[in-house]
Amino acid sequence: MGAVTNWAGNVHFASELRRPRTVEELQELVAAAAKVRVLGTGHSFNRIADSTGELVSVLDLPKVVDVGADGVTVSAGLRYGEITAALQAQGLALHNLGSLPHISVSGACATGTHGSGDGNGPLADAVGSITFVAADGELVTLTRADPDFAGSVVSLGALGVVVSLTLDVQPAYQISQVVYDGLPVDRLESDFDAVMSSAYSVSAFTDWVDPDVMVWRKRRELEAPAPEWLGARLADGPRHPIKVMPAGYATQQGGVPGPWNERLPHFRLEFTPSNGDELQSEYFVPRDRAGEAIGVLRALGNRFAPVLQVSEVRTIAADDLWLSPSQGRDTVALHFTWIQDESLVRPVVDALEAALAPLGARPHWGKVFTGLTEQYPKVQDFIALANTHDPNGKFRNGYLDTYLPRG
Ligand SMILES: Cc1cc2nc3c(=O)[nH]c(=O)nc-3n(C[C@H](O)[C@H](O)[C@H](O)COP(=O)(O)OP(=O)(O)OC[C@H]3O[C@@H](n4cnc5c(N)ncnc54)[C@H](O)[C@@H]3O)c2cc1C
Repeated sequence: MGAVTNWAGNVHFASELRRPRTVEELQELVAAAAKVRVLGTGHSFNRIADSTGELVSVLDLPKVVDVGADGVTVSAGLRYGEITAALQAQGLALHNLGSLPHISVSGACATGTHGSGDGNGPLADAVGSITFVAADGELVTLTRADPDFAGSVVSLGALGVVVSLTLDVQPAYQISQVVYDGLPVDRLESDFDAVMSSAYSVSAFTDWVDPDVMVWRKRRELEAPAPEWLGARLADGPRHPIKVMPAGYATQQGGVPGPWNERLPHFRLEFTPSNGDELQSEYFVPRDRAGEAIGVLRALGNRFAPVLQVSEVRTIAADDLWLSPSQGRDTVALHFTWIQDESLVRPVVDALEAALAPLGARPHWGKVFTGLTEQYPKVQDFIALANTHDPNGKFRNGYLDTYLPRG
């Protein structure tokens, strides 16, 4: 118990954290509360989880990883790293993972968290059903057969407290990860499709000033990587996305095949992911505008320089979840790891948003942003859906009032 911060430490929550140990206890808490928000593992960089009333964690609810005919049903507070090892042990896998295994399944799905891969939708794309505690304290289960299901998965915590999710699974697979240094940034722009389609999951790291881009390729088949590729060189040792950080924090590279859950994330569960002393932003533009977007970011490179630690480019396949970053369009994800000084970062974020707005950029719900939420075409449908589930606004907070105001 006690006051808490988010993972990065830039958000201090006003409320004490309540940690019910049973679903029934959680139901009573929700039914009695005037205001409730849920905190997952706190890896968001803004006040999305903040509460003026109860702040609830589902991390202490009974842990469930139950494989059935419809997939794997997991308790909401489990971290991906906890469920993926259990799945791998049973010869099963998920379609994709984010850059870190430390985040809770419910928190990741609530914000549209994604990994990379031309054929891979966001993590929430694997959700086949959810069960949540609604505003009246009753349990509600929704499946893909429900008409509003596509609006209910990337929920920003606005519909209720999710207690379990069922995820699609597939047979376990191996991944080999190789890193290339020195891809000319001109080639990233001119040969974008060749770069991003070169593996099951591809990430390109740059600071938009250095002419050399680092590319991480994660292939499902064993790769005997060429020493040179598109002007890039095979890395001569392990790499971390942030050059000054220890490469040992990153997952195994060098083409050594291994289980999907130990290669798809960039960071190992036992180490601090990324830098820790940071803020993050991310914007999503249509895949067919990738070249234009890269041109915009290169033009802003010197503006980024004082505040940017690293930038990452990924791709996401289109899906139909209303508030998903890739809803309705194949997508390029443009990520920024900033220094942790919001007064310096915020003006750069605003300049970035102004430059990307004409490309239809959408912001990541869990990262630092100022606007562009209107670029999600289903926002009004989502607000109406949330009003239906939560007519008195029990699950609303300042973040939702700012970015998804009720009409
Ligand atoms: C180092 C680092 C790397 C990252 N890498 C990626 C990446 O690769 N791809 C990407 O897309 N994002 C990435 N993120 C962002 C991160 O995935 C999202 O912020 C995600 O939401 C974090 O999950 P969480 O459990 O910490 O959620 P929190 O930040 O705790 O909460 C996020 C939202 O989910 C809601 N929520 C949580 N649990 C529940 C529940 N049980 N019921 C209802 N609502 C709930 C909260 O109320 C809140 O609205 C990264 C973040 C960090 C710090």
